[in-house]
Amino acid sequence: MTARLLIVGPQGSGKGTQGVRIAETFGVLPVSTGDVFRAAVSAGTPLGEQVKAIIEAGDLVPDELTSAVVRDRLAQPDAADGFLLDGYPRNIAQVAHLEEFLEGRGESLDAVIELDVPRDESIARLSRRAAEQGRSDDTEEGIANRLAIYERETAPILDVYRTRGIVDRIDGVGSLDEITQRIIAALEARGLDRPAAA
Ligand code: ADP
Repeated sequence: MTARLLIVGPQGSGKGTQGVRIAETFGVLPVSTGDVFRAAVSAGTPLGEQVKAIIEAGDLVPDELTSAVVRDRLAQPDAADGFLLDGYPRNIAQVAHLEEFLEGRGESLDAVIELDVPRDESIARLSRRAAEQGRSDDTEEGIANRLAIYERETAPILDVYRTRGIVDRIDGVGSLDEITQRIIAALEARGLDRPAAA
């Protein structure tokens, strides 16, 4: 069976970590736009050159460019059995792009995981990550800008998916394993199956 999933949550909510775990559990391809852009920047590709300054400022890469990158990735054979999107769509325009793409293939999202983490907790986690990993956008201004964009542009996309009844709101405070288990339980309650262990 296939699963087409999206994980949404503020910066510092742990969605990257949980996204990879859940993709692995359900046997689908994890697609993180942030990871794709960071890899392009490190490799110095033309895409990387285009997005470097934008990412460092914590601004959004233009929608058309981001959507084209995602479409290319989802069109590859390893996404045929499902995927988990992390970091995309991030605003209403990108929701429309994704919908158009999926509809064209006769597909739709099965579930949207909303990781719910209080603002103070997000900020505390991001400051720790800044100290530990030194990500170039984890500066005080970068973090504040990304959180503001999240609240203004990304949180509203959940309303679109809520009207479709596909959002599972998950408490994102707890141990990594506890949170993974909460997400798995919610997805299984929707009838999404984990592949049998090989
Ligand atoms: P975070 O959630 O901490 O902001 P991400 O890894 O998801 O980290 O994204 C890092 C950066 O990559 C964003 O600040 C933005 O510049 C760019 N980016 C990622 N996804 C998108 C997207 N869907 N649309 C536009 N820009 C994006």
